[in-house]
Amino acid sequence: MKVLVINSGSSSLKYQLFDMKERQAIAKGLVERIGIPGSRLTHYPADREPYRVEREIQHHGMALEIIFDALTHAGHGVINNIKEIDAVGHRVVHGGEIFKGPVLVDDAAKEGIRRLAELAPLHNPANLLGIEACERLLPGIRQVAVFDTSFHHTIPPHAYMYGLPYRYYEEYGIRRYGFHGTSHKYVAQRAEALLSRPLQELKIISCHLGSGSSITAILGGCSIDTSMGFTPLEGLTMGTRSGDLDPAIITYLMEKDNLSPAQINKILNHMGGVLGVSGLSSDFRDLEKAAAEGNKRAKLAIDLFVHRVKKYIGAYAAELNGLDALIFTAGLGENSPEIRAAICQGLDYLYLWVNPEKNTVRGREADISTSGSRVRVLVIPTNEELMIASETMQLIN
Ligand code: ADP
Repeated sequence: MKVLVINSGSSSLKYQLFDMKERQAIAKGLVERIGIPGSRLTHYPADREPYRVEREIQHHGMALEIIFDALTHAGHGVINNIKEIDAVGHRVVHGGEIFKGPVLVDDAAKEGIRRLAELAPLHNPANLLGIEACERLLPGIRQVAVFDTSFHHTIPPHAYMYGLPYRYYEEYGIRRYGFHGTSHKYVAQRAEALLSRPLQELKIISCHLGSGSSITAILGGCSIDTSMGFTPLEGLTMGTRSGDLDPAIITYLMEKDNLSPAQINKILNHMGGVLGVSGLSSDFRDLEKAAAEGNKRAKLAIDLFVHRVKKYIGAYAAELNGLDALIFTAGLGENSPEIRAAICQGLDYLYLWVNPEKNTVRGREADISTSGSRVRVLVIPTNEELMIASETMQLIN
């Protein structure tokens, strides 16, 4: 069975084609700058050199046509005919309170995704463009929508409500939704396999640390709390996002600098985080290098990031009433021994210790804790696309 996974953004479209017998991507790629001058496709067949096409790509339908050409190309393709694709799985960012799991795409599902655009104006409309383009180009194909939020639908009301007048929840849906759900779910399932213990028995904290970062407390395989909230801005200090702050700072700054809602949004989402604090970069590789060379603000940004992660680990260990496994995933979690070591330092009260030699691992699955550590510390590369392909296959079967 072959499943095409699509992650459609407003001006980009990422894809992976999976052979589900092997659970392997046989090709992946990206169309960039859709509707913007300079559009291009980069296609990576699993066993051959990348293939690039540069030409005008005005809309998502054209992007998909070019992707299908690449997938079936005589020299660079991996299938003979697009009819070999059995199903399409779409990453959809916001499922609100409507979608508690993956769904087959039909008119009602599309209407739900459209309605939720109010909560994710940058993402859900773009996700719909991808779905509708597939409908046109692959008539009759079974499509599944997999939501970033749905793994978090098990969070109880006392953890998802904000301390605001209740009517804002009722009228505007203001509550914690959480994001990166597909990633947190995937690594929790891998932890079950790596530890050879049933997920139902495990208390897990999973740290998805990339340019966007979130932490989730997982009890018996279910998310019970997560650091991102109503939007992906809450929680950890990220590459460019502020994460948690005193909400009074927002109105204070707006008055002080006469800022519009759009301007304050830009500051919080694009000018904050470790970029804002360091004044240097949102990329931890740059920050680690600069800190090693004595740059004090780069060090401050890293220390602040580590401090926040630790604070959430403490909070979630309390919520879980114990901890069996701490998981590191995503760009930073998978690749930075320094950040992992700093986060895990001083967690003796959890009987959690990292083995420095094992912690040198990058980009592959490993248990990096000492043999005496009561908490297993795991590095698990995330694979959201494989998770989406698996959920798509499960649903249509
Ligand atoms: P995204 O949220 O865009 O998917 P990723 O999960 O790819 O992000 O993470 C990207 C971030 O991971 C980079 O900005 C960088 O901070 C960090 N990162 C990646 N590789 C390394 C590395 N070798 N050392 C330190 N940080 C790294």
